[in-house]
Amino acid sequence: MLLNKDKWPEFVGRLAGKKLLAPQSGGDAVRFAPVSDGEVPMLDFKNTRVPPKQALFPQTETMYRFQLGTEEIELPQLDEETIWLGVRPCDARAMAIVEKLFRWDIDDPYYLKRRELTTLVGLACNEPGLNCFCPSVGGGPASTEGLDLLMIDLDDRYLLEAITPKGEALLDVTGDLLDEVKADAVKEKEKVVSAAEKKIKRTVDTEGVSAGLPGLWEDPLWRRVSAACLGCGTCTYLCPTCHCFDIQDETEGFEARRCRMWDSCMFEEYTVHTSGHNPRPTRRERTRNRINHKYSYYVDKFAVTACVGCGRCVNLCPVNIDIIEILRQVKEAL
Ligand code: SF4
Ligand code: SF4
Repeated sequence: MLLNKDKWPEFVGRLAGKKLLAPQSGGDAVRFAPVSDGEVPMLDFKNTRVPPKQALFPQTETMYRFQLGTEEIELPQLDEETIWLGVRPCDARAMAIVEKLFRWDIDDPYYLKRRELTTLVGLACNEPGLNCFCPSVGGGPASTEGLDLLMIDLDDRYLLEAITPKGEALLDVTGDLLDEVKADAVKEKEKVVSAAEKKIKRTVDTEGVSAGLPGLWEDPLWRRVSAACLGCGTCTYLCPTCHCFDIQDETEGFEARRCRMWDSCMFEEYTVHTSGHNPRPTRRERTRNRINHKYSYYVDKFAVTACVGCGRCVNLCPVNIDIIEILRQVKEAL
């Protein structure tokens, strides 16, 4: 369906009743934030600094509350329906990839309940970033995987494509604002998407990487590519597919809560055993793990690479460590 942009405020107004989040500028970054009543989010952004993985996997979440000395627990109420507007295709695809993990040996009730309550409305990328490489890892600027509805910006109108029943439901409630798609819009879409694909300049050759990585375990490349690393964790916290967490109990008097929070395999303490032994004692082992996890272990387990080529780890690493360059060196060493 087609939505003329002059009807955008009315379209957003129709979504009221559910919690709505959209990318908003603040300081030097764009981030997802709640949209207040009457506010009309403008979707003129490249991508958010923090990916919307927090929609399903918050940075910190309470798993349950309890009182010391009793056996009763209080579970959090997960019942708020939310719509995330303007999710980039790579970030939605990342959520679909990570869901495989949260459905693996046991179903994770927190992640899956949030997925049930969340509608993801995507916005195709017309202007990919300098370090985007989504086509190299199975995605694309108008990929639909993980999305409920995809919007494609055709200058003065949006083309809306429902991907799931949740997306169709959104089109139902806004139907009187929409026009049928005609052949000219289909042609325009093809032109816009093809132009966006051509703007993606960075590429990664992943052929043979997954199978070859175990054989490079002791290769000198790991010391080289990790030499400048500060262990700050930026590349993992801001990665839409990174999903490691820690679980801790917080107490105040007799009140307590068990919570889980994002963790990072790039932190030295991440693998420290109670004995004090650390099997990944230096940046070399931690960087090697990060690349192996994304490009080998996850592929073995779930038949998909745990990297969607969003480019955030390249854009935001304070010492310019570049995963594309690391993978180039991996290929060279194979
Ligand atoms: S962002 Fe860069 S410096 Fe920080 S942990 Fe990752 S690779 Fe190391
Ligand atoms: S590893 Fe880097 S490029 Fe790949 S998904 Fe994570 S942040 Fe994006």
